[in-house]
Amino acid sequence: MTMTRRGLVASAAVTGTLALWQAEIVSAMAEAATPAKEPAVKDPAVKEPVVKGPVVKDQPLHQVSPHVFMIEAPDGFPTPENQGLMSNITFVVAKHGVVVVDSGASLQIAEMAIRQLRTLTRAPVVGIINTHYHGDHWLGNHGFVEAYGSGFPIYAHAGTRQAIEGNSGTFWHDSMLKWTSDATAGTRIVPPTMSVDNGFTIPLGDVTLRLHHYGQAHTHSDIAVEIVDDHVVCVGDIMMDRRIANMDDGSYKGTLNTIELLIKNCKPEAWVPAHGDAGMKVLEWHRSLFMGIYESCVTAVKQNIPLEGALAVALKDPRVSGKATETRGWEKNIGKYVSIAYLEAEQDLF
Ligand SMILES: [Zn+2]
Repeated sequence: MTMTRRGLVASAAVTGTLALWQAEIVSAMAEAATPAKEPAVKDPAVKEPVVKGPVVKDQPLHQVSPHVFMIEAPDGFPTPENQGLMSNITFVVAKHGVVVVDSGASLQIAEMAIRQLRTLTRAPVVGIINTHYHGDHWLGNHGFVEAYGSGFPIYAHAGTRQAIEGNSGTFWHDSMLKWTSDATAGTRIVPPTMSVDNGFTIPLGDVTLRLHHYGQAHTHSDIAVEIVDDHVVCVGDIMMDRRIANMDDGSYKGTLNTIELLIKNCKPEAWVPAHGDAGMKVLEWHRSLFMGIYESCVTAVKQNIPLEGALAVALKDPRVSGKATETRGWEKNIGKYVSIAYLEAEQDLF
């Protein structure tokens, strides 16, 4: 039932309430829910474009904590102008080397990130963590493997690996080309190589990473990365700062539950989202938006207000409407965002 209703939302999206790229994500995610019969990893010699997309303009590296540095993407959605630079790339710089948390949306973005990293340290990259399977978080794997060899592990949840090796990987690779007018050309699919789950630790000499997974949140297979000694948590897309997440595979209740467990188990002093600024305020921003939306939808379902009326109920909540002006892509996406929450509330209540 959920997939059918979400399919209806997708149909509405195609009629014009959503950006084209998001409408495409809706249908592709439904497809991606079915594992591919065969891995869809491409043979670069046969299928990749001959031409490589242009160099990505340098973005500054910001220090978040003693071991954590971040390149912040100014935009929230992929365009030809931003060449797919829509999500942050985070480096943990430690005694035993550098670990990358989310590698960006293309070979060129990864190359830009490596240029910035090398202004800071000549230490090698010794691991990548892909927080989930949306392409802006892992298509850059190619650039890091080109620069540092393929001898280091690329960590992800098993569900993320399955998605990238299946239809979802090909979908994101091809879509990023389309959305950026081929600016990401030359990027090859390099899937994660090691499955990790809640509790997995990566010792790096002077700092330890601990991974967290508490079931479905932004997707069914998110990994949050705690930089234990710095009291920092990289949350991928579990939380965002002034951005609207793609919740097609997500759960509002699951996200709120995951956030509470991360607070309880990590006691962080800074959150690092993959979209927007790092810091403490992302927690309250995201949590209050999600609570506002989900609780409004529960109210709407209990009052027998139909799906079409849920947005009006949600916009009466100041936790929701108060974020409209500062959030990128609000107008085009809030309707669908609320619809997904309504369907989850409906399923939860009946
Ligand atoms: Zn995502």
